[in-house]
Parts: sequence; C-alpha cells; structure tokens
Amino acid sequence: MIAQIREQLYELFKSSEVHSIALSDPQPTNFIEYTWLWILESYGEFGLFLIFYLSMAFLYALGGLFFYFCDKFHWFQSRKIQIKKYPTSDDIKRCINNLVTNYILIVLPLGIISFPFSRILGMQHSLPLPPVWRFLFDMLLCLIGEDFFHYWMHRFFHTPWFYKNIHKEHHYYTAPFGFTASYAHPVEVVFLGLATFAPAFILRPHFITFYSWFILRQLDAVLTHSGYDIELFPFNLLPTYGGTAFHDYHHKEFTCNYGSRFTWLDKLLGTYKEKKSPTKSN
Ligand SMILES: [Zn+2]
Ligand SMILES: [Zn+2]
Repeated sequence: MIAQIREQLYELFKSSEVHSIALSDPQPTNFIEYTWLWILESYGEFGLFLIFYLSMAFLYALGGLFFYFCDKFHWFQSRKIQIKKYPTSDDIKRCINNLVTNYILIVLPLGIISFPFSRILGMQHSLPLPPVWRFLFDMLLCLIGEDFFHYWMHRFFHTPWFYKNIHKEHHYYTAPFGFTASYAHPVEVVFLGLATFAPAFILRPHFITFYSWFILRQLDAVLTHSGYDIELFPFNLLPTYGGTAFHDYHHKEFTCNYGSRFTWLDKLLGTYKEKKSPTKSN
C-alpha cells in the first residue's frame, strides 16, 4: 500500500525530476535566472516548490519575530495602534501551536495539491523569467484580486453560523500581533487559501511570480496583523491601502473592514469604518 502511494507520488512529480537545458532553449542572462535554473537542475520543480514553501514559513516567522521584539522592547511605540495591549506568553504559545498545525496539515498539503494543478493550467517554470514590469504588474493584480475574493469570503464567515463555528477562532485576539496573521480554524485556512490561489490561477503567471505572490501575501498579512501602523513599509504607497490600522480595527469592531488590505470595496459597499491613527484612547 505504502509502496503504491509512493509510486503514485513519484508519477505525479516525476516531471520535476529532470530539468536540463538544451542549446536551443533560452539561456540564463542574469543572476536570478542562473539561480533559478541551478535549483531546477539540482532539485527539480518539486524541490523548488519546497524551497519556496520553507522560505515563506521562514519569512513569516521572521516578520512575526520582528513585531514580537517591537512589543517586548517597546520599539515604534508611537506607531502602536492599541496602546499597551501586548500578548501574554500564553497568547503566543496558543498562536504558535495553531500555526505549526496549520502550516504542516493544511498549507503544505494545499501547496502540494496546487503544484500538479498549476502545471495542468499551463504555468511555466522555463526561462526566460518574466521582465520586472510584468512581475510587478502580476503581483499587483494578485493583490487586488485576492482582496476582492477575500472580502466576500470574509463577509460570508461573519454570518452567524460560520462566525460561531469557524471564524471566531481568528477573532480570538482582539489586539492582533504579527504571528496571528494565519491564526485561524483549519477550515478558514483552506477557504481563505483559495482566495489567495484564485487570482493566480486566473492570471496563470510564471512560477516565480506565483511563488513570490504567496510570500508577499503572507508578509502583507503579518503586517496587517502586526498592531503597528508603520508607514515606511512600501505597501503603504499603494492607492487605497488601508493596511494595519484598517484590519486592526476589524479585529476590534468585528463588523467592518472585510477587505484584506484595500479599502475601496468596503467603502463601495458601506462596510468601511475609519481607520484610527495611533491614539491613547484605545
Ligand atoms: Zn485578521
Ligand atoms: Zn473577521
């Protein structure tokens, strides 16, 4: 039985086994393309997927850790949104337990399932990599598209049954901190994960954009849950970006600001509540 499953998995991913480049194929022309090709030739497409998955988990942890230090050593206190609301060690422990479970039992399997599916959709690993403008444009479309799908799923999760049984878990923390970005009931992780996959599957960008999109999405989620409204972060340059204060206010008030990061849909549909600048009244 185990041998059969191993055989099936091998069949599924065997296309990732060999990646050699012929003279007639496009050749790498810069450092990123050389590195991309080297990983493909050394570890195959599935190995590349695992490297991106681990990078995503690592950067998530790094982002969470940075804001943990902000709380612990009182950095950027003038930008803290909910003044003097710091997570206890039990809060952090509960959050990390949930994250480890979700990352291993939900996020990794979702990624593995999506891997052959994205190949079926015709997404490419091959050179040349997309030009910078195309990469940035696709990332922007993914940000906008995910925000749209997230808005509707999030509103759905705020209907009484789904809120009580699923989404309430994510709202356990009324003053979120960086690590809480993916703190959620496993069912929510699947459904909001679909909102992240959706724009990428519609656009079908190059795999480097696809993987980078997931990393960007995770980092943005860490930021919007950080509890700090630090305007230096480049996301704040995007028009209608509500960012941390916008989503922090959702955790505080529950029935407003359903978008992931942009305010335009909430404004259009009357669910927007003004983001609060850091204030001592909280
Ligand atoms: Zn949240
Ligand atoms: Zn919510």
